[in-house]
Amino acid sequence: MIKVVKFGGSSLASAEQFRKVADIIHAEDARRYVVPSAPGKRFSADTKVTDMLYACYDLAAKGKDFSEAFAKITERYTSIIDELGLDLDMTEEFNTVKACFIGKAGRDYAASRGEYLNGIVLAKYLGYEFVDAADVIFFKDSGEFDAERTQKAVRERLTGVEKAVVPGFYGSMPNDTIKTFSRGGSDITGSIVAAAVGADIYENWTDVSGFLISDPRIVKDPLPIHTITYKELRELSYMGAGVLHEDAIFPVRKAGIPINIKNTNAPLDPGTMIVESTSQKPQFTITGIAGKKGFTVVNIEKDMMNSELGFGRRVLEVFEKNGISFEHMPSGIDTMSIVVHQTEFEPKEQEILSGLHRNVHPDSIDIETDLALIAVVGRAMKSARGTAGRIFAALAHAHINVKMIDQGSSELNIIIGVEEKDFEAAIKSIYEIFVVHQL
Ligand code: ADP
Ligand code: ASP
Ligand code: MG
Repeated sequence: MIKVVKFGGSSLASAEQFRKVADIIHAEDARRYVVPSAPGKRFSADTKVTDMLYACYDLAAKGKDFSEAFAKITERYTSIIDELGLDLDMTEEFNTVKACFIGKAGRDYAASRGEYLNGIVLAKYLGYEFVDAADVIFFKDSGEFDAERTQKAVRERLTGVEKAVVPGFYGSMPNDTIKTFSRGGSDITGSIVAAAVGADIYENWTDVSGFLISDPRIVKDPLPIHTITYKELRELSYMGAGVLHEDAIFPVRKAGIPINIKNTNAPLDPGTMIVESTSQKPQFTITGIAGKKGFTVVNIEKDMMNSELGFGRRVLEVFEKNGISFEHMPSGIDTMSIVVHQTEFEPKEQEILSGLHRNVHPDSIDIETDLALIAVVGRAMKSARGTAGRIFAALAHAHINVKMIDQGSSELNIIIGVEEKDFEAAIKSIYEIFVVHQL
């Protein structure tokens, strides 16, 4: 049995957290490969080491004095090393990083040092071998992740290595410079390593007891989801549920490896199992709710547009020509709405409007801004009648005006557009009706 275990920033923010992590790892022999993040926040106003590194490097890149900012970073590590009583001197490592900052080694290099240094400390503390991600995780010249080369390298490097620490978040480019994944990318490294070593399970340890039905910063103490399918999770992650990086799903999913989200601060809680498919009935009609702000909807009206051959294509062509991809496209008989990211749309607004007038001669175009989209996701919605009706009722009851609604043909999700000011209240009221009222 092999378990790959990834620990997030808050799980490794202090010596106290390191102790919890070591207890978890030592509790099971199968926890052989460990993927750490950089030290995260110790308290809510604290700064993640990754953010400190970006800020520090920006000073260095401008030729400004960065020694104070740098000292604050090394302090995060030395305090952990000292409190754990480790016989580990990182002076040389710190000096190398500093020299590379002066030599302008790049922002990605800078950010990656958070995980690299933390990996060295954790390996020492656990008595595990340290394997630099730069030697086994690879990107192509295009910047794309190189799955084939990586899988081979991870396998070769870890064969015969009983236990190892592989830092998350970064890898190498073909020219040996360092590149990182996007923020939160240690989740991806964990998934890649799990797939490469053929793990039985990928445990992702964080600071909440699993994937929660809703964002805990919006709904107070939301219940955890026991079991969720990859498809449902993808919908929720894409819409902003930040527990797991959305790209972390692919490597393990392909290899048929389940993910278990677990809480470092409550290791006995079962957490959430993420699986390909399950016969397990969800506890509620909905599995989860997530959402994002910052959308614009362009409503196009034209009588009889439905009978006009190629109308939709000509509309989308205008967006495509302006380099804008659309999020959703609900439509009626004489209306078509295109939902786009506001920040992408704004600079192109006039080009798009004139393009639409030219291409489809609409009766009218109306633009609504500052919209939030909410995704209500659930594999049980397909067989439950009246889900959309219940959502409408909940929102009406909370005096929230629904601007848009779009139900995916898979019946796995319903997307609702509301004004940004109503975003939090809308999520709370949907949670109320589907979860609180059903308990
Ligand atoms: P880590 O540092 O361990 O990778 P993250 O900060 O990336 O942790 O992800 C965990 C956080 O995600 C939680 O602390 C919580 O605030 C946030 N979050 C947002 N939506 C959800 C959700 N639906 N379920 C659980 N956590 C969520
Ligand atoms: N430390 C990196 C970040 O903050 C990667 C991660 O935490 O997964 O984005
Ligand atoms: Mg994360």
